[in-house]
Amino acid sequence: GDASLDIDTLVIGAGPGGYVAAIRAAQLGQKVLIVEKAEVGGVCLNVGCIPSKALISAAHQFENAQHGDVFGVSAENVKVDFGKTQEFKNSVVKKLTGGVAGLLKGNKVEVFKGECMFINETEARLFNDNEAPRYRFKHCIIATGSRPIELKPFPFGGRILSSTEALSLPEVPKSLVLIGGGYIGAELGQMYSKFGTKVTIIEGMDSILPGFDKDMTRLVAKNMAKTNIEIITNAKAESAEQNDKEVTVKYSVNGETKEISADYLLVTVGRRPNTDGDFGLELAGVEVTDRGLIKVDHQGRTSNPKIFAIGDVVPGPALAHKASYEGKVAAEAISGLPSAVDYKAIPAVCFTDPECASVGYTESEAKEKGYKVKVGKFPYAGNGRALSLNQSEGFVKIVAKEENDVVIGAQIVGVEASNLIAELGLAIEMGATLEDISLTIHAHPTLGEIVMETAELVEGHPIHVV
Ligand code: FAD
Repeated sequence: GDASLDIDTLVIGAGPGGYVAAIRAAQLGQKVLIVEKAEVGGVCLNVGCIPSKALISAAHQFENAQHGDVFGVSAENVKVDFGKTQEFKNSVVKKLTGGVAGLLKGNKVEVFKGECMFINETEARLFNDNEAPRYRFKHCIIATGSRPIELKPFPFGGRILSSTEALSLPEVPKSLVLIGGGYIGAELGQMYSKFGTKVTIIEGMDSILPGFDKDMTRLVAKNMAKTNIEIITNAKAESAEQNDKEVTVKYSVNGETKEISADYLLVTVGRRPNTDGDFGLELAGVEVTDRGLIKVDHQGRTSNPKIFAIGDVVPGPALAHKASYEGKVAAEAISGLPSAVDYKAIPAVCFTDPECASVGYTESEAKEKGYKVKVGKFPYAGNGRALSLNQSEGFVKIVAKEENDVVIGAQIVGVEASNLIAELGLAIEMGATLEDISLTIHAHPTLGEIVMETAELVEGHPIHVV
C-alpha cells in the first residue's frame, strides 16, 4: 500500500527559515513534520553564516596576536595551525546544529532525513535510502533555500571552489583569486588574507560590496589594501584552466585581456533558489518568477493557498534572519493569526573588517522615495571606547524625516557595526524619533554612545563635535 499519511504542516528544508517555522507551528498546536535532505540547520549553520564567522574570528585573533605593538604587547612566532582552526569551526557548527535538533525534538516536531518532492497540490513524497512515505498535508511551508550559482566557464571542482569548499580548506592557501566582490566573497577573501593568503578580487562593478554606500565600502577597501588584497574592478572573468599545481584565470579589463594564477579560484557570484529539478512545484500549483523565486503574498502564501514559501526561495535579500522572520509569519498565518511581513526594519550586515551594517533607508533611497530627510554622521574617532579599542575608523549615520524626526534609516561602518545596528532597527520598528535615542542614557564608555551622539548631531545639538 501507498496510502498517504496525514500531517498538519509539512516543512521542507531545515535551515533558519524551515526550522524556525516548524517550531513556531508546533508551538501553535500544529502537528509538524520537517524534511531535510542534508543537515539540520541548513546553509546558515553548516556552510554559511556560522562557519564563516567562526573562521573570521580566528583570523582576527591571528591578526591581533601579530599586531599588539600599539598596546605594548608583542608576541613572537605567532603561528596558525589551520587544522585546529577548522576543528574550532566544526565544533561551533556541531553545537548549534545539535541545539537545533534538540529544539525540534523538544517541540515535538518530527524530523525526516531525506528528500521531498511534490506529487500534487496536497501531497508530497519523502524518500531516503530506506523508505519513501507519501504524505497528505493540510499546509506546507517550502524552505528549500539556495545554492551557489555555478558559471559555465568555472565549473566547481578541483581548484575551482564555491563558498562551501572555501570554508573547509585543509590549509591556508598561498594565493586565492576571487570572482565576485559581494559580501560572501569580501568576507572570505579578507579572512584568508588575514591568515596570509595573497588574495585578488575580480569584480564586475566599479566597487566591492555594491549593496552598501560607497563611503562605507571605501573604508573596507582601504583596510583590504593593508593585507595586500588586490581589487580589480570593472573586470570580467572569462575562463579558467586548472592543473595539479594551480588554476589560471583569464579576465578582461578596459578591453585588455589579462591572466592570473593562484592555488584556488573562489567563485561567489550569487545564489540560486532550490526550486528547480524534480521538486515538482508545477505539480503543486506553485508559481515561480523567471528567476525561479517563488511568488508569495504578505503572509508567504504561494499561488497554492495551502502552500507557503519562506527564505532564500522567495524574493528579497538572501539573509538568515529574513528567512526566520518569514518562517514565524507563515507558521502564524497557517494557524489563522493575522501576521504579515513588514520589511522596513530588516538589517543587512557584512562581516568584513570594518563591518558594514544598514537598516531601513539609506539617504539616497529615502530621497528617491520622496522623503525630506535630515542626516548626520558621527565618527568612531570621537568615541572613547573606540579609541581605547584602537578601532577609531568608521561612523554611524542616521537618516530621519525632516518634518518629525522619525528615524527611517541608519548605516554603520566600523567595529561591532553588526551589533550596534540592532538599536537602530528597534528605533525604526517602533517609529522612534531622534530624541528617543538621544534621551536614552547610554553607558559610558561604550560604542553605543556613538549612536546616541549621532542622534544628537542630527537633532542639531551634539556635545562632542563642533
Ligand atoms: P537554507 O539555509 O538554504 O536551508 C535550506 C535547506 O533545505 C537545506 O538544508 C537543504 O538541504 C534543504 N533542502 C533543499 N531542497 C530540499 C528537498 N527537496 N527536500 C529536503 N530538503 C531540501 N546570512 C546572514 O543573514 N548572515 C550571514 O552572515 C550570512 N553569511 C553567509 C555566508 C555564506 C558563506 C553563505 C553561503 C551564506 C550566508 N548567509 C548569511 C545567507 C544564509 O545562509 C541564507 O540566507 C539562509 O541560510 C537561508 O535560509 P533558508 O532557510 O531559506 O535556506
